[in-house]
Amino acid sequence: MSRLETNLIHTGKEFNTTKSVVTPIYQTSTYLADGDLAAYIHAATEPKHPEFYHRHGNPTNSQVAAILAKLEKTEDALVLATGMAAISTAILAIVKSGDHIVVQNAHYSGSTLFFNDFLADYGITITRVDQCNNQAFLNAIQENTKLLYIETPSNPNLNITDLAFIGQLGKDKGITTMVDNTFASPINQTPKDFGIDIVIHSATKYLGGHSDLTAGAVCGTKEYINKVWRRSLVLGASLSPFDSWLLLRGLKTLALRVDQINKNALALAQYLNSHKAIKKVIYVGLPNHAQYELAKSQMKGFTGMLCIEVAGNNEEEEFKNAQTILGNLRIFVNAASLGGVESLVVHPASMWGSHHSKEQKETSGITRGMLRISVGIEHIDDIIADWEQAISKL
Ligand SMILES: *Cc1c(COP(=O)(O)O)cnc(C)c1O
Repeated sequence: MSRLETNLIHTGKEFNTTKSVVTPIYQTSTYLADGDLAAYIHAATEPKHPEFYHRHGNPTNSQVAAILAKLEKTEDALVLATGMAAISTAILAIVKSGDHIVVQNAHYSGSTLFFNDFLADYGITITRVDQCNNQAFLNAIQENTKLLYIETPSNPNLNITDLAFIGQLGKDKGITTMVDNTFASPINQTPKDFGIDIVIHSATKYLGGHSDLTAGAVCGTKEYINKVWRRSLVLGASLSPFDSWLLLRGLKTLALRVDQINKNALALAQYLNSHKAIKKVIYVGLPNHAQYELAKSQMKGFTGMLCIEVAGNNEEEEFKNAQTILGNLRIFVNAASLGGVESLVVHPASMWGSHHSKEQKETSGITRGMLRISVGIEHIDDIIADWEQAISKL
């Protein structure tokens, strides 16, 4: 069996039926029936058939899905237009009116919006729990609980959920488990190894890796992915041929990129951790992270994501200092998103002010002096020099 780096380049090649070494962009909405009626009926009805009509499938989408299923050690996978398309379609393939989902206090903001503003309107109830407290998940389970939905490390506070505990809890109670694995990437974390049923990705982030596309993925059993596919036919968020091709290209270097990003982020975290202008560094790869041992037990690398709290004499000054640093960084660009080759930084409290209530901001750990950093693959000396000069402006 070939290794991960090889799979990233060669898995799913059979979906390219041309002589082109590189899978072409199938920029078409529809495919020829070609006179064979039986074959055409098969193409129209078989889940994810790559050559019938784009909403059903596309050869590049099939190839990307094959790679992702391999990476996440699941039977099958489906790619969609965005991470949110993956999350919403995957969840709507499991729950119906009257069902209940256990989720975390801290999630990607779009997921929180989906739970609060969307699912409630369709009679699906939610209980939010502290992801660091295993017992809280157990206590939140009701008779109608159909899904345990987790995210680890979570956005933006980088808390860790105990994958093995959740995987076992789901099995004991007969409840499906689903994890958003975007922050870790499959290079750093394989939830299937810990008994989690379904893995979700915003492929916009590490998987694509170049901040030039949006995409999402759902990985699970063949039977479940067929269900998600049927939902996707009517919800309609198909991944475009060009974005799929960019994703396929990005995936080839995933292992190299994530490896370098892991190294850069650890070095930056160590530098900032020792700087007196920084009150706190939250990085799962630092031994001072409250869940470092748990992180080490379930992650192979610690990602490019870190959060810092800038020091100040009071909250207002911390806010002001964070803004000064943000305004003076040159290599780190102030932009939403993460996981690309270029380093990004955001101020979560201002970015998510509209999505979260004050209480939610507190439980998700967002403070006014906090900056969230996505480290890229620039040279580490330049990365540290950029922070040094920005902090010197305080
Ligand atoms: C970005 C992100 C999403 C949403 O993905 P889109 O591609 O923007 O729809 C979901 N989960 C996490 C953890 C993310 O970072």
